[in-house]
Amino acid sequence: MTRLVLATRNAGKITELRAILTDADLPHELVGTDAYPDIPDVKETGVTFAENALLKAHALARATGLPAVADDSGLCVDVLGGAPGIFSARWAGTHGDDTANLRLLLAQLSDIDPAHRGAHFFCAAALALPDGTERVVEGRMPGTLRLAPAGSGGFGYDPILQPDGESRTAAELSPAEKNAISHRGKAFRALVPVIRELLG
Ligand code: IMP
Repeated sequence: MTRLVLATRNAGKITELRAILTDADLPHELVGTDAYPDIPDVKETGVTFAENALLKAHALARATGLPAVADDSGLCVDVLGGAPGIFSARWAGTHGDDTANLRLLLAQLSDIDPAHRGAHFFCAAALALPDGTERVVEGRMPGTLRLAPAGSGGFGYDPILQPDGESRTAAELSPAEKNAISHRGKAFRALVPVIRELLG
């Protein structure tokens, strides 16, 4: 059985990709970065989601000698020309301060009518092999930004994104409902044929 390593310490992401591999009858054993505690974090110096996903996947494949998957994601707001984009996690200045990021974005958009509040979550997922072979796939979840947060599930900007076709925000969906339509779910599912092609 080929071992595949996913560049994350987030148990939710590992469970999600593992379930997708199992559903697709792919016999690979998926582990997270925690299985390799000595591996240093990679600086996300890319200027696109795809570049950052590839940087992380290549670094992990080199360090472990195993096929590696990495994802990079964020929120792209139409009226902001695609921002926060790759800066989503540190939009308000501090990396990972979800509440501050969401508050700042809502304040910036306070004068914008619902008709012009289109946005999407975007995810690039990369597979890299130790020999340097690489592939990138992507997924998006389009929607509209609410005027105020709603819901307590999910993370990040979930409480303000109402996915197209939904009356609830992403933070009001169950994890299974969100995975079925999410940018990351779509990107991870798009990896299945790529894994099959490169790893059998
Ligand atoms: P990461 O690439 O998964 O670390 O995501 C980077 C940032 O994008 C997060 O810190 C969030 O601010 C935002 N983001 C990415 N995916 C989601 C999502 O599914 N819901 C809400 N926010 C997200």
